[in-house]
Amino acid sequence: MDGPGELAELSAAEILSAAEGLARRVTAHRRTIHAGPELSGQEHATCAYVEGVLDAMGIEHRRVLRTAIVATIPGSRSQDGAVGLRADMDALPITEAEGREGYRSRNDGVMHACGHDGHVAVQLGVAELLATVARPAKPVRLYFQPAEERDGGALPMVQAGALQGVSHDAILALHCASHVPAGKVAYRHGPVTASVDEITITIQGQGGHAAHPETTIDPIPVAANLVTAAQQLLTREIDPVKPVVLTFGSIHGGTRPNVIADEVRLELTVRSLDKSIRQFLLKRVAELTDSVAQTHRATATVEVTNGYPVGLNDPRPTAVVATAATEVLGPENVILEDEPSMGSEDFFHFGDTGVEICMYRLGVGNAELGIEAPLHSPRFDLDESALPIGVAVMATAIRNLQAL
Ligand SMILES: [Zn+2]
Ligand SMILES: [Zn+2]
Repeated sequence: MDGPGELAELSAAEILSAAEGLARRVTAHRRTIHAGPELSGQEHATCAYVEGVLDAMGIEHRRVLRTAIVATIPGSRSQDGAVGLRADMDALPITEAEGREGYRSRNDGVMHACGHDGHVAVQLGVAELLATVARPAKPVRLYFQPAEERDGGALPMVQAGALQGVSHDAILALHCASHVPAGKVAYRHGPVTASVDEITITIQGQGGHAAHPETTIDPIPVAANLVTAAQQLLTREIDPVKPVVLTFGSIHGGTRPNVIADEVRLELTVRSLDKSIRQFLLKRVAELTDSVAQTHRATATVEVTNGYPVGLNDPRPTAVVATAATEVLGPENVILEDEPSMGSEDFFHFGDTGVEICMYRLGVGNAELGIEAPLHSPRFDLDESALPIGVAVMATAIRNLQAL
């Protein structure tokens, strides 16, 4: 072929076969990135690698944050209505288990245990397919995002203007899933991941001698009351068919059995699948804390650190992804998931701008090869035969979105 043809003219089977043709290089990308994992916000070598690959393909790119890259592949017919793809690049502070000979993590105590190495590799594979095999009709924006595992890189990327310069039709992302076999894709409409917020509560009492509680304000029973009362929020104030999590993950106060503490500090996580329940819970935890503290003569401060938003898949791109996966893999290999996850994902910040978004799961498990460890496990791995499938499903979804 002299130069790339048109993506719009390829069938899903042809797209899959083109993606399989890139499998060796996509696997090499994954292994290179796997061997050099970097923690959230420190994805310097990963960015340099991604930029090198994009340069070699002649794809224009720029940095929007210290370690965030936006690349644009122009459309062959129009420069409006881009499809965005997002891959997160960071690894975790986990020491990798034995295995993966030849490409084990070279960075002690850091590991790609969430499959983000696979996400970057698939996205580079899509880039190569679109740049060298089949041109998209409209632009494709590639977002290489830092810091998904900690602090969140999606929101700062959006706030730094990453999406500017072109109108977006949709933004898609995939996440590796080892509980889904390689060769399959799973997806869900509506809520897929939970919002997460962290709250730090300090209950201020007045310490003293354990033998003379009447001369003190003991914050420990106040804290105990608060922990118990908070459970009642969930059972009495929230619609029972709406899932929520309220976990007091840490409680600290006092030093000795015969001393009444001055203060108690509690840290909790609140998760939900509904924007209004999220706001309601945050408000009620603050109100409850104040009233329990006041009732017992103590005072309290409540500090909320907002984490990731509720992950909501929009109907149209989700339907497009489901159709694309069915075309590439056959209906028997596309799983409609019953339940959302109470885990969280910052990808959904890309939807804050009003662009319709969808995240789906790329099966990477393989029981026969012993690849079954969950995400964030030191034994997590992926069946690399899934990588070209990810490339093909993404490229087919882009083709379908651009045909609408
Ligand atoms: Zn993760
Ligand atoms: Zn992840």
